[in-house]
Amino acid sequence: MRIFDPHIHMTSRTTDDYQAMYDAGVRALVEPAFWLGQPRTSPESFRDYFDALLGWEPFRAAQYGIAHRCTLALNPKEANDPRCTPVLDLLPRYLLKDNVVAVGEIGYDSMTPAEDAALTAQLQLAADHGLPAMVHTPHRDKLSGLRRTLDVVRESALDVERVLIDHLNETTVKEAKDSGAWLGFSIYPDTKMDEERMVAVLTEYGPEKVLVNSAADWGKSDPLKTRAVGDALLAAGFDEDAVDQVLWRNPVAFYGLSGRLGDLTVPAPTGPAEHEGNSIQRGAPRTAGE
Ligand SMILES: [Zn+2]
Repeated sequence: MRIFDPHIHMTSRTTDDYQAMYDAGVRALVEPAFWLGQPRTSPESFRDYFDALLGWEPFRAAQYGIAHRCTLALNPKEANDPRCTPVLDLLPRYLLKDNVVAVGEIGYDSMTPAEDAALTAQLQLAADHGLPAMVHTPHRDKLSGLRRTLDVVRESALDVERVLIDHLNETTVKEAKDSGAWLGFSIYPDTKMDEERMVAVLTEYGPEKVLVNSAADWGKSDPLKTRAVGDALLAAGFDEDAVDQVLWRNPVAFYGLSGRLGDLTVPAPTGPAEHEGNSIQRGAPRTAGE
């Protein structure tokens, strides 16, 4: 089973996770920029984070045979902090980079006017840069959050067919599907969607334009939930082609809208590599001549 996790925050995960993901079949992933927990105090803090998503983290993923791409944005939560919003002026230069395959994650957290402004501005940035957008829907008031999100998308310059609406569940899937957007589902260990509910959603709505992710981050989450969904689908009688569509071809098609997804084949590691002079083999003995 080949797996593309379209939404996972590897910055918060260990190298053991990379190894386990590879062993489970994950060969590609997209890491969206998000809130890091500790509030940022300036746009410069975003600059270093974006550079890490474009440099260090793909290097780390490649050591484990996984292709790494990212989406960049001002996240919904920090859109409310005036110390952070100047990052919107920094973003255009970052959105030109090859590994950036969408603007995201954007959307609503508490549905404030500041979040409205950031969402509108970043949908425009996506349209200006020929990129799709990955839009997070709020975890509270899900249906009203989805409706407000879709209203803003429809008023934007970005076609709704270039938008992935994420964190959907049974209450929001129908309206999201009717809108023509791509449909994202985050599978968690004990909250929100789980793999059995995901099987039920796919049974009712079919696999078209559906993406499943683990959204793994600092919180209780499981980077192997994509695989768990694949296994649950097979057990429920879905065929391998349907599983491949959801876990591989749909993410490739959505992020492929950027025209930048490129070759997702990662060569097997050939030994200790270095990123800007730094190895991840910390503690490994150095050999003569290094
Ligand atoms: Zn996320």
